[in-house]
Amino acid sequence: MSYQVLARKWRPRTFHELVGQEHVQRALVNALDQGRLHHAYLFTGTRGVGKTTLARILAKCLNCTAKGRGDEGVTSTPCGACDSCQAIDEGRFVDLIEVDAASRTKVEDTRELLDNVQYAPTQGRYKVYLIDEVHMLSTSSFNALLKTLEEPPPHVKFLLATTDPQKLPPTVLSRCLQFTLKHMPPERIVGHLATVLEAEAVPFEESALWLLGKAAEGSMRDAMSLTDQAIAFGQGVVHHADVAAMLGTLDHRHVLALLEALAEVDAARVLAEVAALAEQGPDFAAVLDDVTGVLHRLAIAQMVPEALDNGHGDRDELLALAGRFTAEDIQLYYQIGIQGRGDMTHAPDLRTALEMTLLRMLAFRPQGVPKPPQTPLPMRGQTAPGQGESGAMPETRPAPQAAPDTPQDAAPPPWVDPLPETVPEPEATPTASATARTAPVTPAMPEPVPESRQQDGTPGTSSPPVSAAVSAPVAEAAMAAEPAGEGSAPGALTHAAWLERFETLGLGGLTRNLAAHCVVDSDDGERLTLRLDPSQAVMNAEVHETRIREALAASGIERRLTLEPGDLPEGVETPRQRADRLTAERHALAVEALHRDPHVQKLQQAFGARLIEATVKPAEPEARGC
Ligand SMILES: [Zn+2]
Repeated sequence: MSYQVLARKWRPRTFHELVGQEHVQRALVNALDQGRLHHAYLFTGTRGVGKTTLARILAKCLNCTAKGRGDEGVTSTPCGACDSCQAIDEGRFVDLIEVDAASRTKVEDTRELLDNVQYAPTQGRYKVYLIDEVHMLSTSSFNALLKTLEEPPPHVKFLLATTDPQKLPPTVLSRCLQFTLKHMPPERIVGHLATVLEAEAVPFEESALWLLGKAAEGSMRDAMSLTDQAIAFGQGVVHHADVAAMLGTLDHRHVLALLEALAEVDAARVLAEVAALAEQGPDFAAVLDDVTGVLHRLAIAQMVPEALDNGHGDRDELLALAGRFTAEDIQLYYQIGIQGRGDMTHAPDLRTALEMTLLRMLAFRPQGVPKPPQTPLPMRGQTAPGQGESGAMPETRPAPQAAPDTPQDAAPPPWVDPLPETVPEPEATPTASATARTAPVTPAMPEPVPESRQQDGTPGTSSPPVSAAVSAPVAEAAMAAEPAGEGSAPGALTHAAWLERFETLGLGGLTRNLAAHCVVDSDDGERLTLRLDPSQAVMNAEVHETRIREALAASGIERRLTLEPGDLPEGVETPRQRADRLTAERHALAVEALHRDPHVQKLQQAFGARLIEATVKPAEPEARGC
């Protein structure tokens, strides 16, 4: 017996064998069982989703004679053995009329077709018309069809199929029951292929089926034909490597190697991997597609690991790789990958475009790329010692902005004059950390704004210099809140130093958020233990610990780091709590300064102006929050 191709051999012969279109199956089975079949159905869906198959099954249901030749024989479970069923399966049933509208668009063709509608069926009980690509009919053809649809003879069923239902006239749409045939997801295709191959006793690798399932692009028929080819190609076995070669798919190991290099933040290795890839002369655009595809699966591996498919037989590798990226990095890399793909057409060549896109992923990480070591710069604090201890913290400089509902026709208030808003940040260099060890309470202190500058910037303002008044308690609080201060090793990181240093560590995203909820528990110069607010414990991950350790090391504090969730000691602020408190204090100061301001007082007296305190925004001394 000659070999029968899988697509034909496994074509569903009853509704119950139909894979993936359960909603259509249920509706038609119910209609058949209750004798309420509509006279016209419209199936929409892309090619290969089973429109012809559906029409054939329906024709069998209507014409099967196993339960008698009269109307009582109509069934939702055709026998497949009677004359009618066999004729339909073999494509020689004269009362199943298949029309490809794409090749018969003329009105004469439709007329001829529809003229025959009125005649009784030759072989069976019902005539079934399957008009594929029905949207291709001309307007006059539609009109001819419409008349038949309005008064259909009782022995006729119409099955219209289209890939583009929007091109159908509403008059036709309104006379049909419409079903959308689903595009088959790769999971369904892989599942079905596995069933078929097991029944056919063909050995296979699951990852090979995923390659086939994806290449089929939603069409079960294409998946079956490709599987036939793969069996021939692999001489009776479906191997991953054979299928990849047959489909011209890129060797997935190269893509994983690229992701590995990204996880290592190793730009040199990224370029080396691209160079290794280039030897295969690949489609670089497809490589980038594969990289974004893996990033998508890594995001799933992080958030819903049990939903991760074994698409390339790489499930375990991806689960391991997922632990080495933060969720944000994955999202960022994916976004950059998608945009890089769009920009590829403008790039000088595709390899350049791929390399730039991959390097951009590393360059735009919130944590940045590890830089080559720099020459240490002298600290500003060293040239003017003593300024750091003055206690005049720049955070407390009052520079309130106008509230939105202040009357606008008055003279411009004095505080809109531009103030120097940013204070230069000290460089986090090894020199800075040396200073920090000798003076732990006031390390890396930004240079305070000189008093004269403040007055230059706000002429005519009679606000009292409030900064000194509040900053002293702040400094006291910082010193009082010192859990690791007593008995710790010389040069140890104190909690106050941790608070002061926090902003200069350059932490970003989730890592920054996590670190902002830590207090220094102990530091013996070798091992630093940070105590983490228990409410944040669930966010903890090794990658964050590593980043905090690296950031500390980069600022001269090389320690083994432990992040320990546990109750925070009384009266000790985390960097986050400190930032919140400082913001609240700045706000209170700004409100107070506005209330005292003579211009505001005048506005209040003259116009009955009211200060809405919640809308007062103090000028940010640093453009960052926790
Ligand atoms: Zn039958």
